[in-house]
Amino acid sequence: MIPFNKPFLAGKEIEYITEALLSGQTAGDGDFTKNCQNWIEQHTGCPKALLTHSCTGALEMTAILADVQPGDEVIMPSYTFVSTANAFVLRGGVPVFVDIRPDTLNIDENLIEAAITPRTRAIVPVHYAGVACEMDTIMDIASRHNLLVIEDAAQGIMSTYKGKALGTIGNFGALSFHETKNITSGEGGAVIVNDPRYIERSEIVREKGTNRSQFFRGHVDKYTWMDIGSSFLPSEIIAACLYAQLEYAESITARRIDIWNEYHRSLAELEAKGFISRPVIPDGCRHNAHLYYILLESREQRNRILSKCKEKGIGTVFHYIPLHNSPAGRKYGRVHGKMTYTENLSERLLRLPLWPKLTSEDQAEVLGMIFSSIRE
Ligand SMILES: *Cc1c(COP(=O)(O)O)cnc(C)c1O
Repeated sequence: MIPFNKPFLAGKEIEYITEALLSGQTAGDGDFTKNCQNWIEQHTGCPKALLTHSCTGALEMTAILADVQPGDEVIMPSYTFVSTANAFVLRGGVPVFVDIRPDTLNIDENLIEAAITPRTRAIVPVHYAGVACEMDTIMDIASRHNLLVIEDAAQGIMSTYKGKALGTIGNFGALSFHETKNITSGEGGAVIVNDPRYIERSEIVREKGTNRSQFFRGHVDKYTWMDIGSSFLPSEIIAACLYAQLEYAESITARRIDIWNEYHRSLAELEAKGFISRPVIPDGCRHNAHLYYILLESREQRNRILSKCKEKGIGTVFHYIPLHNSPAGRKYGRVHGKMTYTENLSERLLRLPLWPKLTSEDQAEVLGMIFSSIRE
């Protein structure tokens, strides 16, 4: 059996979790939470990072901070996880889906401007596979039309665009530490606040709408209900686990990159012969090897290879079912323009096993399987 993903233990998780449990503070915002937030701030260069219980929670916070009102439109790809859209729909927002680029499967930046209306409030680029969207163009469009940019950087920790960490380019960014991501605490996330004017409100929204954070810093002498908000904090037990992983983020990423490069090198031959397409990493993007996918000739071929791998115990998987065709996507969102690549590429995509302890023998077996089933 070669699973698609296997959660990785960096080593000190249990030690830190025990420390958190014995510390007398298991609720959020203790030392481990602060260590994680400092780590993110130092490694990404953002002015403020706040841990959340998930990236979904982080996106919901950004929708509140962006003050999305009923009927406000938010431009995003349809080829993404539901939380990208859901966070805004919860505030009455309307996702406006545009097509993706065939090379990176990221939102096609050249289609964004035509989708803007007087109701547009924000653009939400999703950095698929930890490979950056074309942020210079997106930021330029946003500033000319006075729109906010919220980066769904769920898959983007340790990735950069022209030297800038993903999540630090727009007004806000959202990271995920879910079990399936590169750095994980089971469930977990962080909101990155890049515009200092939003820092105070972001702390309030995260703390159930209270100014509890200011109270603990001694800035106010009692805390009270200030604004809308919810409980977005993870407990110290989760933060302890996360900190153990963040300390090893460099080596975890390096190991993933080695595996990614091996797939990429080995599969070049199949691409040269026109059987598959491999991922494209644009100039200026440094990625984190979050996932390795190939694009096959047809949905039928993809599904055939998928079930063959399953029979042999190899965990290959497809990915997003486009949101615009889902029941909730049809109800709450709308499409701008054609969804050609979104529909076509999502049907042909296959993700290969990738986790830090995947052995080279197992990887060779996965590759052998792909080679033999493509030639059938
Ligand atoms: C994983 C993921 C999310 C959700 O992250 P959670 O931490 O599980 O809430 C959102 N968007 C994208 C693009 C993701 O990959």
